[in-house]
Amino acid sequence: MSLSEQEIIETYFTHQATHRKDVGLGIGDDCALLNVPHDQRLAVCMDTLISGVHFSPKTPAEDIAYKAAAVNLSDLAAMGAEPAWLSLSLTMPDVHEKWLQAFSNGLFHILNEFNMQLVGGDITRGPLAITAQAHGFIPPNTAITRAGASKDDLIYVTGDLGAARLALDIIHHDLQVSASDNKILMRYLNRPVPRISEGLHLRSIATAAIDLSDGLLIDLTRILNFSHCGATVTVDDLPVNKILPEYLSENKAQEYALAGGDDYELCFTVAPDNEDTLLAAFSELDTPITKIGVIEKRPGLRLVDRQGNVVETPTKSGYQHF
Ligand code: ADP
Ligand code: MG
Repeated sequence: MSLSEQEIIETYFTHQATHRKDVGLGIGDDCALLNVPHDQRLAVCMDTLISGVHFSPKTPAEDIAYKAAAVNLSDLAAMGAEPAWLSLSLTMPDVHEKWLQAFSNGLFHILNEFNMQLVGGDITRGPLAITAQAHGFIPPNTAITRAGASKDDLIYVTGDLGAARLALDIIHHDLQVSASDNKILMRYLNRPVPRISEGLHLRSIATAAIDLSDGLLIDLTRILNFSHCGATVTVDDLPVNKILPEYLSENKAQEYALAGGDDYELCFTVAPDNEDTLLAAFSELDTPITKIGVIEKRPGLRLVDRQGNVVETPTKSGYQHF
C-alpha cells in the first residue's frame, strides 16, 4: 500500500541531524516558527528544478535533492548570507520509497554540511519538480548586491567554468569521455558546491556579486545592468575547467566557460584598492579565484583576447527560460 502524505513527511523529511536553536517550531504544524537574531536581516530566495528542464529524468534522486538545496545555497552565498533554514515543495508522479529514501539522503547530506535545518514544505502529485526556499542571515548593510560595481573595479570569478555544460553533452549528445572524467563532470553538474564561506569572506570586500547559474555572459550582464556600467572581459584569462580542452576546441571550451551555465561559481567585483585584502582573504581558503576583467563606464560587455583584440560574443549566450 502506498504511503500517505503524512507518512512520507514523517518517514523521509522529519528526522534530521541539524537542530538549530533559532527554530522554535519545525516541521509538523501549519507553520514553522522561526527566530531571526535581532542583529541580523533575513535573506530569502527560492529556486525550482523541473524534471526534463533542469535535470535529466535519469538523474539519481540523491543528486536532485542535493542540487535543489545547493542552487538555493548558492544564491545565499552570492549575497554574503549565512544559511539557516530551508523549506521544500516536492511534486512527484507517484510514491517510490527507494527514490524518496535516496532523495532524503541527498537533501540532509547537504543541509547538514551547511548547518541548515529543514523547517517545512509541501508534497503534491504531478510531474516531478522540486522547489526549495532558503533562508539565511546577514547583518544590516553588509549584503553584496548586484548594484554596487563601479568604474575600474576588477572582475573576479571563483573556481572554474564550463564543466557542467560539458556534462550536458554526455547526457544529451552521447559525448564519450573516460570513466574518470565522466565521474568528475557529473559531479560538477549534479553536485555544485555552494560558495558559502567564500561569500561570507566577500561581504566586506566585494562591491557586487552574483552566482553563475545561467552563464557568465548573462549573469555578469545582470551586474552591469544593476550597477549602470559596462565591462571588458579577457577571454584568455577565463578559468576554463581543465577537462574541457580534452574534448573541445579552444574556442568551444571558451564558449562553454562564457555561456554554459550551471557553474554556481561566484562572479564578483572588487575596488582596485581592495585587491590585496581580497587575495589575503582567499589565501586562507582552498577555492581559487581568477581575475577576468574590469568594470568600465561605457555600457555593454566587451570580450577581448590577451592582446586586446576584440573577440566575438558567442551567439548562444546562456540559458534563458523565455
Ligand atoms: P497543510 O496541509 O496544513 O499545509 P501539510 O500536511 O502539507 O500541512 O504539512 C504538514 C507539515 O509537514 C507542515 O509543517 C509542512 O511544513 C511539513 N511538510 C510538508 N511537506 C514537507 C516536505 N516535503 N518537507 C518538509 N516538510 C514538509
Ligand atoms: Mg500543505
